[in-house]
Amino acid sequence: PPVYTQRYSLTARIFEQKKLLGGCKKIVDFGCAEIALFNYVKQAEGVEEYIAVDIDQELLNRYSCRVLPLTFDYLSDRTHPFNVKVLCGSVAEPDSRLFGTDVVVAIELIEHLYPEPLEDLPFNIFGLIQPDVAVFTTPNSDFNVLFRDLIGFRHDDHKFEWSREQFKDWADNLVVRYPNYEVEVSGIGPGPPGSEHLGCCTQIAIFFRKGPRNHIDDVYCKETYKLIRNVDY
Ligand code: SAM
Repeated sequence: PPVYTQRYSLTARIFEQKKLLGGCKKIVDFGCAEIALFNYVKQAEGVEEYIAVDIDQELLNRYSCRVLPLTFDYLSDRTHPFNVKVLCGSVAEPDSRLFGTDVVVAIELIEHLYPEPLEDLPFNIFGLIQPDVAVFTTPNSDFNVLFRDLIGFRHDDHKFEWSREQFKDWADNLVVRYPNYEVEVSGIGPGPPGSEHLGCCTQIAIFFRKGPRNHIDDVYCKETYKLIRNVDY
């Protein structure tokens, strides 16, 4: 399967594992774009809340209808309530509706961030939301030599593409700053035989919270994102 579906499938496996480990009820999907992850979320058992966030309101206006129930969804009764919200906002800024999330997902998001939001993202995710698990994926620039016609980055809007060493440095540094977390870094989408030394097409970092959440100061308990859609299944 193409690498983008491998990214979603691996993320869906994390939802399943998380469920076995005590629950995956609330999921936040930062940089949700066309909200493609939603189909995987809908199939994951036990999920009660899904919040899709993107900074691009035009994109959300166009694609937020994807979270509406389909005829198929009326055929089987859910055993749990399921609330879906689509919010317009930045991963760099807090919104109290995201607190208490079990799994935060940011698939192919960080490479679209300028230095300032990239610098502010960790406090929002690891300092405030403090999910049990946080998943980040990003291109592996070591792998780019395999794209014969590639000049520059893989996408016009990428602000950077990191080597495996750079991504690992970023992840390791975050667990130093947020010692309540540990991290595992690996790859998705291996290249052809003989290219093993370049790693995989996509890199993934999975952060796990080790202890209870820290107290959140009241000043952060505000709803700052714009509600685009709110659906109860
Ligand atoms: N996660 C999507 C998926 O799996 O299909 C793809 C993500 S797309 C490559 C990157 C998205 O990040 C874009 O939709 C862009 O609008 C969004 N984005 C950029 N800066 C952001 C920010 N500060 N906060 C939230 N989303 C942002």
